[in-house]
Amino acid sequence: MAIESAVSTFPGGAHPPENKQISEALAIEAVAPPKRVSVLLSQHLGAPCKPLVAKRDKVQAGQMIGSSDAFVSAPVHAPISGTVKDIALQPHPVTGRTPAIVIEADAENNPQRALPFDRFDASFSVEPYDAEQICDAVQAAGLVGMGGAGFPTRVKIAPSKEMPKDILIINGCECEPFITCDYRLMLEATWQVLAGVRLAAKAAGVKKVRIGIEDNKPQAVKVMAEAVAGIADMDITVVSVKTQYPQGGERQLIQSVLGKTVPTGTIPPMMGVCVLNIATCAAIAEAVVLEGPLTHRVTTVTGRAIAKPGNYYVPVGMTVADLIDHCGGLTEQAAKVVLGGPMTGFALADLSTPLTKTSGALTLLTRDDVTEAKHARQQTPCIRCGRCLTACPEKLNPTRIAHAVKANRMDLARQYFMSACIECGCCSYVCPANIEVTGYIKTGKILDAREKKRMQA
Ligand code: SF4
Ligand code: SF4
Repeated sequence: MAIESAVSTFPGGAHPPENKQISEALAIEAVAPPKRVSVLLSQHLGAPCKPLVAKRDKVQAGQMIGSSDAFVSAPVHAPISGTVKDIALQPHPVTGRTPAIVIEADAENNPQRALPFDRFDASFSVEPYDAEQICDAVQAAGLVGMGGAGFPTRVKIAPSKEMPKDILIINGCECEPFITCDYRLMLEATWQVLAGVRLAAKAAGVKKVRIGIEDNKPQAVKVMAEAVAGIADMDITVVSVKTQYPQGGERQLIQSVLGKTVPTGTIPPMMGVCVLNIATCAAIAEAVVLEGPLTHRVTTVTGRAIAKPGNYYVPVGMTVADLIDHCGGLTEQAAKVVLGGPMTGFALADLSTPLTKTSGALTLLTRDDVTEAKHARQQTPCIRCGRCLTACPEKLNPTRIAHAVKANRMDLARQYFMSACIECGCCSYVCPANIEVTGYIKTGKILDAREKKRMQA
């Protein structure tokens, strides 16, 4: 089997309880189309989309309904057929509220979308596709990084004279506690994922691919390694990396797979490295081979406060409330709804928040989970123990940045490389004084962005 051991691992990090057992054995299940969806016009990094439809327009499932001319952007598509009921502000998990296209389903014309996994097998060949064709299909389908950042995929994989790529690293770590959507994709959609990997490699012009998977997922390592062993047209290998949070961070994974540090202030493409996650690769295959836009994704619904946890193939734009209903509702112990995982997710105040292309999980926490959590305990003054420094995988000084933000000294926060923080949450997790260090840094980044915008206006 084509398995390599990791060259090294990154410094720092943490080992939060994994809690994967809640959903890791549950096969992906397609969800029926909801009665209404809200497709946010900004669910990626870059310019938001402008609507291509108007109120009362009829739309078909898969139709492009929003786009932008900007280079860094990705169009959005209707996940269901129906009528545009409104174009209005809707809850957004990060920004509060953002414009969205609200579609009411056509009750007669909305068959359930089938899982595409069995449309791919070992006979897949990249031969019929050229780089330009792959990039165009990826852009037309509205693909963005589905691991969380939401960076438009075309920009990532397109060949670049300034920054030629040597290697493609596939992120199969899924290091965030609770989440299992990528794990299930590796087991159930192995050939679709690998078709996407090979298409991305062809578009990027690379022959060398490494698939990093944490060693707490031996089944995924085995299945993927057996499958890649039969691929002869590319140097493609599975790398078993240490289970260590945040191993799935781009820079951390590069360190583990290649043994090279991505210097602060630089980005992986400057080192000839392109990193994509598993769900993004599955979506690339769907976009290029099946010409299917990114209207559905696999989302893990997990935690001890949901009746029926699982891994669900959901329409993008379905509300959190509808997905919770589909999963049998909340249990009596429910206390907190988090979009994402417990380390990097966002606690929701409004369950009408729609799912986006980057919504890999919905974590439903109980009262016990919440009272056990660090942030529920009383914050005490910093004792300068230095644990946050040791845990920071980016080798930052988190407490110093947090103090600068508290004192409204953005000039200092910038000097301390606040923008290099990957918001992994390790500093908060290890802090014995229960200080929400990451929260201060996230706030600092938002304030800094607002200040920059004001100065540009
Ligand atoms: S400062 Fe940022 S990168 Fe470092 S541990 Fe805290 S959240 Fe993670
Ligand atoms: S871990 Fe907490 S108490 Fe220790 S230095 Fe960092 S912020 Fe202060």
